[in-house]
Order: sequence, then structure tokens, then C-alpha cells
Amino acid sequence: MKVGIPKETWPGETRVAVVPAAVAGLVKSGLEVVVEQGAGIAAGFTDEAYRAQGAAVVPRAEVFKASAVVLQVRATPGDPALRSGQAVIGFADPLGAPQAIRTVAATGATLFSMELMPRITRAQSMDALSSMATIAGYKGVLLAATTLPRMFPMLMTAAGTISPAHVFIMGAGVAGLQAISTARRLGAKVEAYDVRPAVKEQVQSLGAKFVELPLESADSEDKGGYAKAQDEAFYKRQREMMLKVVAASDVVITTALIPGKPAPILLTREMVEAMAPGSVIVDLAAERGGNCELTKPDEVVVHQGVTILGPSNPPALVPYHASQMYSKNITTFLAHLLGKDGAAQPALPINPDDEITRETLLTRGGEVVHPRVRDL
Ligand code: NAD
Repeated sequence: MKVGIPKETWPGETRVAVVPAAVAGLVKSGLEVVVEQGAGIAAGFTDEAYRAQGAAVVPRAEVFKASAVVLQVRATPGDPALRSGQAVIGFADPLGAPQAIRTVAATGATLFSMELMPRITRAQSMDALSSMATIAGYKGVLLAATTLPRMFPMLMTAAGTISPAHVFIMGAGVAGLQAISTARRLGAKVEAYDVRPAVKEQVQSLGAKFVELPLESADSEDKGGYAKAQDEAFYKRQREMMLKVVAASDVVITTALIPGKPAPILLTREMVEAMAPGSVIVDLAAERGGNCELTKPDEVVVHQGVTILGPSNPPALVPYHASQMYSKNITTFLAHLLGKDGAAQPALPINPDDEITRETLLTRGGEVVHPRVRDL
């Protein structure tokens, strides 16, 4: 079976779905690998490095023509090169842009969504949302640190004492927890808040203070560990209570997301205006609309002296390791789908009885087959 790795075409995308080091494993499992010329360059991987691991480097059209399975970071919806029976695996944004999934279905291609990977132990090494969130949390803090006109650590020097930066992390999931550790390593004083009370201990174990709001949020978590959406009255009270913490912070990093919904607004204009001039907000939810009312994706907004950054694709700012981690996730998923002797077959075998397959499979045989996405 031939596996293709095209160059990503999404604006600003620097990652590549599979790195050269992972090609050797694919070849060893009996797959033939074709890579588009220049596919890894933006992430630091040369065509030569792919060839050295046993891949053929070919023009784009040939990747799509030759491959039974196409591995992508962004499974470009409606790529005209897709054809019936061909399998595509990548981030497909099925809950955010469900219409586009129909376009892929119309090509007859079989599309798998990396976003819908179930959060079960068996699928942990295929969980690309978590690996990309790890990178986003790390990079978000570095962006804040280089923008802030202050240092992060406390220093006692002959020229006086420097007080540590106060960093507030809103949303303590995978990205938020990584942001906490990164900010702590830089010496900041860190506070964090999440609507799921279950994360309190994790926050504390990383050396940050958990901000407790006397809010009723018992029903805050779904069975997959994701936050549930709350009503507007809840968000309003949450913002009122958070104003004081925000006003006392030099840096606020927001990471709050609800699967399939726009990001909740946690920072209003009023809250931004309560921050001291020079403060920095990094909104890691920018791609989903942002947690801050004033965020403009990929623009630097300065509002009354407060800088608001909303990088829409933070993992693409760390393309080498983002690609390395994604590559591990997607090739493990592919190996799972192939099973024992799938590599010898002409097309990707589909086992609808398998939970991982069922949860991630979006289109097949011209139809959108995922019930939730079909309903949307
Ligand atoms: P996410 O990216 O969907 O959301 C980020 C965080 O924002 C979450 O912690 C969420 O609770 C929080 N949030 C949402 N609304 C909020 C609000 N109004 N105020 C404050 N915070 C809000 O989630 P994620 O980081 O991908 O994952 C969440 C959790 O899922 C993880 O912390 C972990 O416990 C669990 N998880 C499990 C597995 C697994 O079992 N394999 C893998 C990854 C994550």
C-alpha cells in the first residue's frame, strides 16, 4: 500500500504530517511512502532526509495519484485531487466547519478526523489535540515573556530587587498545564483557574495557586474529560469574580475551549482595561473565536497599553517538534487502522466495530457517516 505525505497548503501552516524519522517505521511495516517535494522544509526536514529513510520524493499531483492513504496535518476539505476509496487522515475541523466535510464526502474519499480521537488509554499515543496543546501552552508563555516589558523571575541584584511577574492561566487543560510549568520554569508567580474543579490538584502540583471562584460548576465535565458549555449567566458571574485576579496579573494566558462550540468569552473589554499598561494577554483560543473580547486572530492588538496576542496556530510556530509529535500520533493511528497485515492490501481496511475507527471516521462511500457531524 502506498502512503502519501503532501506539503501543507493551509495559510501559515509550517508543520508536516510525517517526519523523516517516522518514514523508516512505515517502510518497515511494508508500506511504500511518497512525499511531496519540499513537504518538510518549513519544519526543518529536507527532501534528502526523507529519501535517506526510504521515501520517494515526487511532485504534488503524484502524491495524490499514487497514494491509497494520504496523511496530512490539515485534511484540506474538498481537495480536488481526492478520489473515491482513497483514505485521508488529518485535522478536519468537523465540529467547527461541518459543511466542508460534505465536500470531502462528495469525492468518495474516506476521511478520518484527528480531532475526534477518543480520550481512552488505548488511543493516548494517537491524541494529536493533546500533543499540539502541549506545544501551544509552551509557546504561548514564551510569546508573553518576550512581549512583556518586565522579566519573569524574581531577582535580587546589586541594582535592586526585581519582583516576579504574575501570570494567570485561564483554562487548565493540556495547554494550560503546560503553560503553568513553562511560566514556573521562567520564575513567574502563577495562578490558574478552570471550570472543572478536578484540575485543582494538578494545578497545585505544578507549583501554581488554584483560583477558586464560589461558582456552582459541579456539572462542568463530560465523560471524555472535556468542559461542558455553561449558560450566559454563569459566564457573566465568572467574569465578575475574575476581574480582581486579572487586574493584578502582568500576563494572562487563556486556553479555554468547549468542543464544537465557539470559545467562551472570559476576558471582557472592562477586564482588559483594569490591567496595568504593559500587561500582556495571549489568547490561545483565537482560532475558535478567542477567550478575550478584543482578540483579533494573528494581529497584535494594543488596548490602553495592554497587548493582546491571538496566534491562530501556535503549534506552527514550533514546527519541528510539533511535526515530530504529530507524526508519532498519526503514524500510530495508521498502524492501528492497518492492523496486522493491512499494509499488504490495496486500500485501507475499515473495521466499524473498532471504537477508535468509529469515533474518527467522518466520510465513506460518498456519505458523511459520523452521526454527530452529519447532524451538524
Ligand atoms: P480543551 O482544549 O477542550 O479546553 C481547555 C481547558 O479549558 C479545559 O481544561 C476546560 O475545562 C477549560 N475551560 C472550558 N471552559 C472554561 C471556562 N469557562 N472557564 C475556565 N476554563 C474553561 O481541553 P483539553 O485541554 O484538550 O482537555 C481537557 C482534559 O481532558 C484534560 O485536562 C485531561 O484531564 C483530559 N484528557 C484526557 C486524555 C485521555 O484520557 N487520553 C487526553 C487528553 C486530555
